[in-house]
Amino acid sequence: MLGYAGDEVTNRIEDSYLRLHPDDLEYVKATMQAHFEGRTGQYEVEHRIRCKDGSYKWICSRGKVTARDGEGRALRMIGTTTDVTSMHEMAERLRESASLVTNLTNEVPGLVFQGRRTPDGQMCFPYASAGIAEIYELAPVQVAAHARAIEALIHPDDLGAYRASFAASAATLSPWRLEYRVCLPRQGLRWRQGDAKPQRLADGVIVWHGFITDVTERKRIEAELHEFATTDGLTGLANRRHFMMRLEAQRALLRHAGGAGQAGAAVLMCDLDHFKSINDRFGHAVGDAALRHFAGILRTHLRAGDVAGRIGGEEFAVLLGGADLDGACTVARRIQDRIAREPLVSGAGAVPLTVSIGVTRMYADDPSVEAALSRSDTALYRAKKGGRNRIECA
Ligand code: GH3
Ligand code: MG
Ligand code: MG
Repeated sequence: MLGYAGDEVTNRIEDSYLRLHPDDLEYVKATMQAHFEGRTGQYEVEHRIRCKDGSYKWICSRGKVTARDGEGRALRMIGTTTDVTSMHEMAERLRESASLVTNLTNEVPGLVFQGRRTPDGQMCFPYASAGIAEIYELAPVQVAAHARAIEALIHPDDLGAYRASFAASAATLSPWRLEYRVCLPRQGLRWRQGDAKPQRLADGVIVWHGFITDVTERKRIEAELHEFATTDGLTGLANRRHFMMRLEAQRALLRHAGGAGQAGAAVLMCDLDHFKSINDRFGHAVGDAALRHFAGILRTHLRAGDVAGRIGGEEFAVLLGGADLDGACTVARRIQDRIAREPLVSGAGAVPLTVSIGVTRMYADDPSVEAALSRSDTALYRAKKGGRNRIECA
């Protein structure tokens, strides 16, 4: 094992100490001495021994005193010497690759994880990189045995989707991907995006490897873009494009219901009367304020499912979900009354404002939403022709 011939090694223990690696000498001697003095039942040490060629091998030595003199001094000892060099090298390589994985995952922005889910739905995260401190404001040990600490941080409105997404990924072995909100003690409300791939183990356990990143800034920009794309900058109402999309959605609902039950909808087309002269008399800025004032009045008449949009300069349209013609005319009258009672008050005094309104119902068999809009336009035209500040139905 060590390369020595039988006559090159003596049977004196002091000589064998000469072959020990200097760093191991004290520990080996102390362990042997403890056994000689009867403080241990046997001894076992791992240490390095110098071979004949000068190199060192890792050795495991185990032994036991088998005979003692009358005063308890060791007379004879038997033992074994095992070469454990390759085990030591393997352990060292394992330590190196484990530290490489840890270093890599800790440098990646976000949280790199291994997640586990048992067939009864219990989850835990046996591996979590240092990024868990930023992503969840937790330490890896807090999620190693169970995932309760994470679930407690997920926004209550997203918790159902969070659990369902893991369940679906486990059931179909499809990648897990989810955007969800967390409420953190230090950072507050933040958006997270998770991506991971599942694997099914023999015992039915599902294991995911993946990562979670902070997407708060991207979600903020998306919300801003959505707002920008769907609302009118001056009044904050839906813009023309978004209003048309809501009309289309309502028409799809109507067609789906096939005229059954309570499904109905009406459209009001509102055009401010003589608005040009408001601008001429009070100035464009007051004109703008009057548009915002009227938008505010429209807004107070909306119920859930209704939409108001600014679809032209001083033209507004309102979609009333679930309304019949009578109901829609009542809303139109209320709007008219309100703007008469509550004119915009500007620096130059009250700004008298009236509105003409055309009302129509949406029908499931309208060939398009434009058909309903065109009927309400026709009714509006009649209201204008009839003297303005009027309501007409078509
Ligand atoms: P009618 O009763 O027939 O509707 O008369 P009107 O003056 O309201 O209609 P017309 O279509 O002749 O004029 C609309 C005016 O609305 C002209 C335009 O200057 C004004 N207008 C359109 N958009 C805006 C806006 O964003 N701000 C302001 N202040 N005025 C606007
Ligand atoms: Mg007009
Ligand atoms: Mg007008």
